[in-house]
Amino acid sequence: MTGQQRDGRDARDAREEARTVGGTRRRRARDEEADAWEALVATARRSVADRLVVGTSGNVSVRVGDIVLVTPSGVPYDRLTPDDVTGVDLDGRQVLGTLVPTSELPMHLAVYRSTGARAVVHTHAVHATAVSTLVRELPLIHYMAAALGGPVRVAPYATYGTDELAENMLHALSGRSGCLLQNHGTLTYGASLDQAYDRTAQLEWMCRLWLTVSSVPGLSPALLSPEQLAEVTERLRGYGQRG
Ligand code: 13P
Ligand code: ZN
Repeated sequence: MTGQQRDGRDARDAREEARTVGGTRRRRARDEEADAWEALVATARRSVADRLVVGTSGNVSVRVGDIVLVTPSGVPYDRLTPDDVTGVDLDGRQVLGTLVPTSELPMHLAVYRSTGARAVVHTHAVHATAVSTLVRELPLIHYMAAALGGPVRVAPYATYGTDELAENMLHALSGRSGCLLQNHGTLTYGASLDQAYDRTAQLEWMCRLWLTVSSVPGLSPALLSPEQLAEVTERLRGYGQRG
């Protein structure tokens, strides 16, 4: 081993050095995890700035290897620093950080265990939450439903943070990358934080659209057929820039 290699390893060891938290040894975040944490905090802050959540409502997670970084429970996002990296393994055991992970860990982990998701966003977006109290499925009011895999279902109500809510959510998510949570909010996942976030924003926008047209007295909106949606699903594969 050259002197340079040894120096590199020593620096990494110092960063990853375990620290003892409540009698449990926890290692420090690796570079990739620190970068993912920065992106996660930016996404969580964006959800407040874009008014998809108020205060400490909602939560965000991102997967790095077999570790899931999550927002801590009840901590305002503008207070989070690089030292607050909070991470669990796929069984929910905390491996990074000292802050208590989000109370919705069962929902986030259920998504990672059963899909190829790399990021999950949960919000209490107002129009989406309103729609969740009115219907069992968002009517096909716009073709962007195809970006979420089809008509978005509403998971039946269960208390926040419970395995029952995670189970209901997983059921509603079948074949979709997002769902509504009755009297609660939204959940979407994606291949990246940006994709998961964009799906939430599109879902909230579609719910606002449906509420807007539904409030016109004496008229009811035209809806798309499953065939029309299937055509969009196919077309969206080639959407945007090449490569
Ligand atoms: P946490 O602060 O524990 O993430 O909870 C917020 C929330 O939205 C619960 O459903
Ligand atoms: Zn919530």
